[in-house]
Amino acid sequence: MKQIAVMKVPERVVIPVTEPLVAIGDTVNVGQKIGESEHSSVSGEVVEISKLPNKNALSLVIKTSEDVSIEFQPKENPSPEAIKQILKEAGIPIELIPSEIVILNGTDEKPYVTANHALMLEYPDEILGGLKILMKATGASRGVIVICDSDPDVIKVMKASTKDIEIIPSKTTYVQCTEDLMKNAIAKGSKAMVSNIGIAKAVYDAVSLGKPLIETVVTVTGAKESQNVLARIGASLRSLIETCGGYSGEPTKIVINGPMSGTAQYTDEVPVTKGVYGVLVQYDGAMGEIRPCIDCARCVDVCPKDLLPNVLAISADNARFDVCVTYRLKDCVECGSCAYVCPSKIPIVQLIKYAKAEVEKKE
Ligand code: SF4
Ligand code: SF4
Repeated sequence: MKQIAVMKVPERVVIPVTEPLVAIGDTVNVGQKIGESEHSSVSGEVVEISKLPNKNALSLVIKTSEDVSIEFQPKENPSPEAIKQILKEAGIPIELIPSEIVILNGTDEKPYVTANHALMLEYPDEILGGLKILMKATGASRGVIVICDSDPDVIKVMKASTKDIEIIPSKTTYVQCTEDLMKNAIAKGSKAMVSNIGIAKAVYDAVSLGKPLIETVVTVTGAKESQNVLARIGASLRSLIETCGGYSGEPTKIVINGPMSGTAQYTDEVPVTKGVYGVLVQYDGAMGEIRPCIDCARCVDVCPKDLLPNVLAISADNARFDVCVTYRLKDCVECGSCAYVCPSKIPIVQLIKYAKAEVEKKE
């Protein structure tokens, strides 16, 4: 059974770019370079270059036509240096550091997100291929994929596809899947680089197929049909939700990348970007009301950085950023574990992010 639905070509895409390489009126094709590290995910005409839709990033608006792709140029057995250049050219957001171990985080560590699960079931060979390319580029002799032990079907598929890559089932939960903890638990002092499943697939596509990063797999939850969708970069959240049958009511909030540490969007015109892996649509009452802190300390128990999330949240809410700093605000890795377990539904991570932004302004 197919794990990932493919969205139909949207009527237009909005692609944030650093420096546009095309002008209004230009025709572009699928895969064509349109910015310093951006490529067009569609064919069509550039109709606008402006700060859209949140007025922060310069974006190209492309009105789409029938798909015509540039010719992708795969590379045969590239050197580590050549791999670095290919990944840069392909617009893959990854920093390659010399390592002894490359770890892929295959856990879907955010609630309502199953993109890694779907990718591994559908593309096991490509992901393993991408991991081996990353090992070559970084000089690593050991490759590891960490998969939650609640995903036995994925573990079976990945183990069947490889003998020289370690598949480590993780008993750890959502709480414990931060990069630092993975490095400590697996690398034990060796130099390690942690990446993720989507990047490994993109690395394989870039090197073995010559294809730049123009699509991403997104878990859509809260639409009529919850599913994983292969989305074109730049497609609006609305077109993504329409692929899943549309809204099942009047949405009150759309959250990108997990309900606890993700970012709330108040318009579905926002485009899918390279870092998007989850979209959650919320309706009135779906997530429950926020209630006062009951001092249960559950957030303290789960914090992987031994912080006091309740103190951080309450201090941030009262604009006592000095207290936040005293209680090691900056050590928070925004894993979202505290908010996940909080029975009062306090948006702890949002409050911590707010405090960090305020502290940064004053520095
Ligand atoms: S305080 Fe930060 S690091 Fe600790 S659980 Fe909450 S989000 Fe994670
Ligand atoms: S889990 Fe929520 S209610 Fe319990 S102490 Fe932490 S912030 Fe307060």
